[in-house]
Amino acid sequence: MAFEGLTERLQNAIGKLRRKGKVSEADVKEVMREIRLALLESDVNFKVVKDFVKTVRTRAVGAEVLESLTPAQQIVKIVNEELVKVMGEEATPLNKSPKIPTVIMMVGLQGAGKTTTAGKLANRLKTEQNARPLMIAADIYRPAAIDQLKTVGQEIDVPVFELGTEVDPVEIVRQGMELAKEKKNDYVLIDTAGRLQIDEKLMDELVQIKELATPDEILLTVDAMTGQNAVEVAQGFNDQLDVTGVVLTKLDGDTRGGAALSIRAVTGKPIKFIGQGEKMTALDVFYPDRMASRILGMGDMLTLIEKAQKDFDEKKAEELADKMRENSFDFNDFLDQMEQVQNMGPIEDIMKMIPGMANNPALKNIKVDPKDMEHTKAIVYSMTPQEREDPDILNPSRRRRIAAGSGRPIQEVNRMIKQFKQMRDMMQKMSKGNFSGMEGLLGD
Ligand code: GDP
Repeated sequence: MAFEGLTERLQNAIGKLRRKGKVSEADVKEVMREIRLALLESDVNFKVVKDFVKTVRTRAVGAEVLESLTPAQQIVKIVNEELVKVMGEEATPLNKSPKIPTVIMMVGLQGAGKTTTAGKLANRLKTEQNARPLMIAADIYRPAAIDQLKTVGQEIDVPVFELGTEVDPVEIVRQGMELAKEKKNDYVLIDTAGRLQIDEKLMDELVQIKELATPDEILLTVDAMTGQNAVEVAQGFNDQLDVTGVVLTKLDGDTRGGAALSIRAVTGKPIKFIGQGEKMTALDVFYPDRMASRILGMGDMLTLIEKAQKDFDEKKAEELADKMRENSFDFNDFLDQMEQVQNMGPIEDIMKMIPGMANNPALKNIKVDPKDMEHTKAIVYSMTPQEREDPDILNPSRRRRIAAGSGRPIQEVNRMIKQFKQMRDMMQKMSKGNFSGMEGLLGD
């Protein structure tokens, strides 16, 4: 999980203050020393670290903290605010041209996730704005790059313009742009070539494409897993192309966090999106404040809520709320819910977005096996429609039949039904505003 080490170290450093009623300047100095080390070890650019620590220290030795009765909270507040500042304060929207098409040029090193991100972005524009994008395959060097873009295009139902690998990329872009104008596409996404590292020939080609296509947006894709290197790459591309924004990919991986915290400060260019998975829906707007809470281990509830809103059907959610109040939640609803949750991504990732959960030791090694969910589903599928609608009729002989039908042990069937009933009771209580009883569920 991204930022794990950084979160833990920041929490430990600040946590030491929790035990103190009042803190001295020396205490603040010690905490700042640890924060500095934590940031450096997470691969944050050294100059960014230096400025950050200086600002936080200046604020922290001021009255805000030293005279406070809750110094730890005050420091968290300052660190949080400064993290948000370093990352650019506000989310930066995608540029849009006043007349169609808006041209987005995707650039980046090979393997950074350029082609995947082009697809994710086209998909986002299509689903959120009803846009009609066209993607242009201008990477003629990497074997299979064109096929990859075509496959992505098919998956999200977005057309791809290509002329094979023998035509000059600048010419491909020229013809692609003409086609987009003719077909009145409102967005054009150009997937350009990458290299293993920045080289002059590549940059010359990109500059030529830029001059021809005059993009409204030059989005640089960088791989968060490469830390400091991502920042250097961003600087290199920015020097030559004056990019308009950055997409930081692979934040679902084990990245230490350096790139997210350094890119804006080093290049002056905003991170506009983050990639958090391989699926076409795994592209999120970059919100500096949410990222800061995530880094501090305060969870990322807003993203979680948005994810839920995007993936859940609102009408169904309302029906569900009614059912919860009436205690008529049945196994059909349960199946629906399970499928919706599965669509949101791995459960352990979702749980870590909940405040306080990110660093909860109990979650450290948790792996929710997708097979468990499949077993539970198999059990529900083995019930008759009547049993699904009225779980209270599930007597021992029915349970034995279900166990045989689903191929699961009878104990598992019993346990699942028991948990279902507990959940149903809890949901009814919660829907009436009574939250007691939740501890029991979390406890065992
Ligand atoms: P390109 O060479 O820059 O066009 O890179 P690709 O789009 O081919 O991506 C390289 C690899 O990274 C592929 O296997 C992608 O599925 C994967 N990838 C891209 N973005 C993400 C991301 O946000 N998370 C994860 N886990 N994988 C990603």
